[in-house]
Amino acid sequence: MRFDVITMFPELFEPFTKESLLKRAQAKGILSVEAHNLRKWTKDKHRVVDAKPYGGGLGMVMKIEPIFKAVQSLKSKIPKSKVILFTPRGKKFTQQKAHAWAKLDQLIFICGRYEGVDERAAKHIADEEISIGDYVLMGGEVAAMAAIETVSRLIPGVIGKETFLKERKQKTGFLEYPQYTRPEVFRTWQVPKVLLSGNHKKIEEWKKKHGRLIGRK
Ligand code: SAM
Repeated sequence: MRFDVITMFPELFEPFTKESLLKRAQAKGILSVEAHNLRKWTKDKHRVVDAKPYGGGLGMVMKIEPIFKAVQSLKSKIPKSKVILFTPRGKKFTQQKAHAWAKLDQLIFICGRYEGVDERAAKHIADEEISIGDYVLMGGEVAAMAAIETVSRLIPGVIGKETFLKERKQKTGFLEYPQYTRPEVFRTWQVPKVLLSGNHKKIEEWKKKHGRLIGRK
């Protein structure tokens, strides 16, 4: 899998891509994460990527030409590729969506800033418009990072084999249950006795009872 992120702030991705699991996955050649500075696809002296909105309005809007050129140059020769535009008005990003994306060869993420991106990017360039939640971020970079982490976990070899297989098998959703580790008692806060019992059947029942399904619908 290749993640190509189009952004005005590629430096935000430097520490992110050096995080342990992503770093290891890249070193093993399982995936790559590259953040590209949108200004690279401008020609003018000041490398301008935004302009005032037609018809008036607050703030600046990101221009269509550099985004078009960026996607054109990054998309070439990769067969299973999708272009994603991050926007708060987009379809909600879910675990189910991450499973679908994990089967692709390339994801190109367009990160907006300011008042957003010229509407023609949504209409003619992006395959999908995606939101990570009903709130407004300053830019699409955090959304791209959330998607990269979620999708990467679903690519074979990125996380531990057991967790990976368990999550992939769960067709009806991913069960998240409360987890505890040492010590058994901290202050007066006790680990549920059943988890210390060694009774696997009872433990499984407890996990089912206290777990919550997330992800697939
Ligand atoms: N009114 C603008 C709009 O609806 O696009 C808000 C723009 S926001 C300040 C700047 C950029 O942040 C957006 O273009 C988008 O890329 C990103 N963004 C903000 N909230 C987001 C969300 N919930 N999910 C995904 N991206 C988001």
